[in-house]
Amino acid sequence: MEGGKAQCTNVIGNNREVPKERIIKFKPPLYRQRYQFVKDIVDQHEPKKVADLGCGDTSLIRLLKVYPCIKELVGVDIDEDKLRWRGDQLSPFMGDFLKPRDLDLTITLYHGSAVERDSRLLGFDLITCIELIEHLDSGDLARFPEVVFGYMSPAMVVISTPNSEFNPLFPTENLRDSDHKFEWDRMQFQTWALFVANRYGYSVEFTGVGDPPAGAESVGFCTQIGIFRKNEERAAESRVSERQDEHVYKAVFTASYPSLQQERFLRLVLVNEVSRQVESLRLKHLRRLREEGEGLLGIQPLENDSNFPSFGPVFTDAEKARIENSPKPFVAGRKFFVPLRRLVAYPKLHRICPNEDVMRSLVDDCVSLSSDGSAVVVDLHDHYDYLFEI
Ligand code: SAM
Repeated sequence: MEGGKAQCTNVIGNNREVPKERIIKFKPPLYRQRYQFVKDIVDQHEPKKVADLGCGDTSLIRLLKVYPCIKELVGVDIDEDKLRWRGDQLSPFMGDFLKPRDLDLTITLYHGSAVERDSRLLGFDLITCIELIEHLDSGDLARFPEVVFGYMSPAMVVISTPNSEFNPLFPTENLRDSDHKFEWDRMQFQTWALFVANRYGYSVEFTGVGDPPAGAESVGFCTQIGIFRKNEERAAESRVSERQDEHVYKAVFTASYPSLQQERFLRLVLVNEVSRQVESLRLKHLRRLREEGEGLLGIQPLENDSNFPSFGPVFTDAEKARIENSPKPFVAGRKFFVPLRRLVAYPKLHRICPNEDVMRSLVDDCVSLSSDGSAVVVDLHDHYDYLFEI
């Protein structure tokens, strides 16, 4: 209904006729605006633990898994088939192994109801309930605040639900979905939300997505949204006494993503980046040698690096200074040495592993180190240099 198309017209607010075809096309579609709203909240607040209650086919979870701040992502739905339908798309792809995240991420999907207590939903930073509450019958709706706000008690809750004041702009005036048990106008939603917020120690802010068309502004957003934030006094309350073993939900899917917090992936990425950096420095050194040789023979030197447009990384002044102040690569005999202290100065390596000793212990097995362990050593020349006339 929300994304549909209609031909008729309808009368709203101040008796103006609004052609429906114009009104009910949302760009981007309304569901995407709702997901974007949650993504903006994640961008803004950088929650580590996020749960989506009534997650359906896990579309929102798939969008959220790319956020580097999130370490735990949970989806809960009462419909197990929906969870299983696309759940396997939440497994790590090849690219996730080639370029691991900085922080761990686990994703778990639970079959269960948002009105049941499960201690694995305790301690979350953000819980989203996107188009969920209108699917709850009166009994479940009465239980919902105690479970979500009282028991799960996350730092933030985002609840979206249809705004019934918008409905006259749709072709039919029924509920928007046959499974909806109710649709509230803004007054009804806000009254409920304020009551819940006061009772459980939250503040609430109201907004929405799906702008009304020109001339129909008085109906408000098509989807109304409440953002609940836990008050400081409530946030300071200790939850230690809470039972940690109340496991009611059934886990139907779980995935752990590779990350640089796991030593085997850190080692893999580090060895790869060290080898790449050493090779880049070796080639640069050979180019300089050749240019100096050609200069001595009176041959016009090739344009050096600085005359070519630079496609390499652009360093900040502080990064340049850190590199300049570190020991330079050097040649002894037919060997090329790059001190580890030089390597940890390069931004990419500095971010992954800023400590020289840790770097040494991690790359030790896979790259050749000088006898005192202070530098990576490679042959100054290799077969390919002659092949490509470097
Ligand atoms: N949040 C998803 C989205 O925005 O794309 C799906 C919304 S869909 C309209 C409502 C979802 O809530 C359905 O997947 C339904 O199975 C689920 N649901 C209904 N009652 C529930 C309950 N008590 N606990 C958990 N999920 C429930």
